Amino acid sequence: MNKRKVNTKKLCKILKIVGFCSFIVSIVFLVLGVVFLVRHDLVPGFSLLFVGILLVAISSCMVAVGFTPNFSNYTIKSTHYIEDISKEDFEKMMSSKEQAVNNSTSDFFSKEKCFCKHCGKEIDIDSEFCRYCGKKQ
Ligand SMILES: [Zn+2]
Repeated sequence: MNKRKVNTKKLCKILKIVGFCSFIVSIVFLVLGVVFLVRHDLVPGFSLLFVGILLVAISSCMVAVGFTPNFSNYTIKSTHYIEDISKEDFEKMMSSKEQAVNNSTSDFFSKEKCFCKHCGKEIDIDSEFCRYCGKKQ
């Protein structure tokens, strides 16, 4: 759990730093695009503005996620919930499943009972005729 806490905190820090850097880069792109447009170089100007706007959107998302205080808590809670399930309930579920499978297979291959070859109903293995359809086994 402590490892996960550190990881999410690190992730938030990285998101903040990367988001901030890309925000600065995007501002540079936007300024360069405006400069190109002022000089009437329309193609590089518009492409730089486009890239700049995209970077602004991406970086603002990164910073928003990085600065969200509930983000790390949310992920820790969700992992905690999954761990709780996997540790106790999952083992219980699996053991009950295995028991059910074992019971059904033991019922199926038990020596006391077998199934009629004609109607498929459960009959005694030593009975010569089926008690449901009356045909010989
Ligand atoms: Zn039968």
